[in-house]
Amino acid sequence: MAETIKMTPQEEERLINDAYQNLLNGYLSSNHRKKVEIIEKAFKFACEAHKGVRRRSGEPYIMHPITVARIVSQEIGLGSTSICAALLHDVVEDTEYTTEDIEAMFGKKIAQIVDGLTKISGGIFGAHASAQAENFRKLLLTMSDDIRVILIKMADRLHNMRTLQSMPPAKQYKIAGETLYIYAPLAHRLGLFAIKTELENLSFKYEHPEEYKAIEEQIIANTPHNEQLFARFAAPINERLERLGLKFEFKARIKSHYSIWKKMETKHIPFSQVYDYYAARIVFECDNEADEKRICWNIYSEITDLYRLHPDRLRDWISVPKANGYRALHVTLMGSDGNWVEVQIRSRRMDDIAERGFAAHWKYKIGEGEEESELAAWLQTIEDILKNPEPNAIDFLDTIKLNLFASEIVVFTPKGELITLPKDASVLDLAFSLHTELGTHCIAGKINHKLVPISHKLASGDQVEVLTSQSQQPNPEWDKYLVTAKGKTRLRAALRHDRRAVIAKGETMLKQFLADNDVEASSDNINRIVSIERVKSKDELFQMIGNNEIALSPSLIKVFKPASRGLLNRLMNPFGNRNSGNSEPEVVAPEGKIDTKKIYELRTVDGKSNYRIASCCNPIPGDTVIGFVNDKNEVVVHKMDCDEATRLKSSFGGRIVQTHWETKAKKFNVTLNLEGIDRQGILQEIIYLISTNLRRLNISADEGVFHAELEALVDDTDVVTKLCKRLKKVKGVTTAVRVR
Ligand code: MN
Repeated sequence: MAETIKMTPQEEERLINDAYQNLLNGYLSSNHRKKVEIIEKAFKFACEAHKGVRRRSGEPYIMHPITVARIVSQEIGLGSTSICAALLHDVVEDTEYTTEDIEAMFGKKIAQIVDGLTKISGGIFGAHASAQAENFRKLLLTMSDDIRVILIKMADRLHNMRTLQSMPPAKQYKIAGETLYIYAPLAHRLGLFAIKTELENLSFKYEHPEEYKAIEEQIIANTPHNEQLFARFAAPINERLERLGLKFEFKARIKSHYSIWKKMETKHIPFSQVYDYYAARIVFECDNEADEKRICWNIYSEITDLYRLHPDRLRDWISVPKANGYRALHVTLMGSDGNWVEVQIRSRRMDDIAERGFAAHWKYKIGEGEEESELAAWLQTIEDILKNPEPNAIDFLDTIKLNLFASEIVVFTPKGELITLPKDASVLDLAFSLHTELGTHCIAGKINHKLVPISHKLASGDQVEVLTSQSQQPNPEWDKYLVTAKGKTRLRAALRHDRRAVIAKGETMLKQFLADNDVEASSDNINRIVSIERVKSKDELFQMIGNNEIALSPSLIKVFKPASRGLLNRLMNPFGNRNSGNSEPEVVAPEGKIDTKKIYELRTVDGKSNYRIASCCNPIPGDTVIGFVNDKNEVVVHKMDCDEATRLKSSFGGRIVQTHWETKAKKFNVTLNLEGIDRQGILQEIIYLISTNLRRLNISADEGVFHAELEALVDDTDVVTKLCKRLKKVKGVTTAVRVR
């Protein structure tokens, strides 16, 4: 338990006033407009509101809002509105005053921010996971309202972490855990690197005090040796850079305790083997932003003359900044002692942004800068996710966290536009990140002119084209190809939307069909169809009808026509073909015994067939087929080379009947296999050829060769033959054949 500080009222007042002056001085030395009056007013009001209240540590409560305001101003770089909101952040939560009072005194904006902070004042972790998710959602909602809410919340959390010592251990664990779980990643996402590091370190200190202490001791023990090494390493560099006439600072820095510990844990190594815990940073002064990049590379050139460069560890975050706005050039050099040393090269401006996040931009008066639009894009993603909230709270939480933790890759569009995606993102992720429509209709990707499947994982530097087809439909299976929160959310939304649309369409189709056939579309009648079709619910029935998985054939309503016998036959017939995907004609058994010595003509008249298609091989008119007379005196048609037919031939030779196709009455499903050499635009040409009759297309490509399996609707084998011929004429296609 921390000691309670005993002070006289005069001493306390001086303490408060000193802290306030410190806040004000920091603000006045910043580049913000000097709106001291309103800050003064907020300070006085907060003092009054929290009067007589103490923190657990014993100090006057007002010290907390003052410190939070100081962090907001000096460590994050925000202006008077945020400073006022920070001073007032606990007033509504802890005192009698309301948001309306704040609004009346300080205006709408400050009141809104205080309101946002009040809403998320409770911990984000409830007793239940779903409560967690809900609170977290609230947090994000306020964030997309006004980013300053979350930045002030960060400052609040940072101060609470810095003063965690006065809390009982159980509370320490809870707060530390929560900080590591969500606030540190959020800080990282917002580019508040210094705050993120401190939050992690403080959490680590409370969650693993022993380990923290051990690392601390090691660092201290190694300091003299390291300082000596660094001085030797830095001397020639300093000399060279001075000769260039640069104003710069070259400092050694030590990785945070937390990141050293994480490395020890994940790599199972002792402290002595964490070679890169010691790093160096060159920060140079530069008035003209346009010169920054050139100077970075000049420095690079100088230092790589002096020390050997590790070629795999060059990171150019200057040409392509990180999504959180981070810019710097990282090189790893071999020091004279034989150890690798990472050197970060950045300008003062880049350094500020890296340490304090995007808010530091305001200091440099950047308007619609690139970094800001990156942040805007991320906020947009959060908004997207919030607009389509997951029914499952845990999924939702995972989705958001996925977005916070992912490390990044950068890919190019065909036009050279840069897209930042998390590591392991697929072609499908990219498609969804560009546009929902691109995602839902994505059939393949083309990376550096090579065709790849939608599941293909992108690598940094890939130039990626997204190929789409209007006939492509989103599929629940795709979820496993997606790593981006945006992709997952958009896919799920599209699937829900899609399912509802298909159900509605199926319902309309069925009701129309029933009306056309004078069957009442009553609930009872539809339920009867549900049980006959052996589906689970009306929705499933409608969906299958909408997807043409259940055909609107007369057989569907035979049950409502007393004279019918066919339905029973159909249910009893093991060779029946329910899922052909076509409108299935009614099968009528011929009257009288079929003469197996004569050729049987396969006919379809007025939607009635005198034959049944075998579901094992799905023959179509034109195929060489064989008939088999079943117990119901129906002719079941198999392909000549069908395995099932071979079995039947050997066992029931007496029932075989020779057949002949008569009409081209309906369309059939056929599956084609395509192979070829990949080239730009080939897929579009193929799709164009089959366009209207294309039902399904699966494509995969490997090392310049593609394989496609497509399903099309055709009249007969003649059409298939012609189609294959036309496909083979497409440049690059080597094989186009029908498969079973
Ligand atoms: Mn607070």
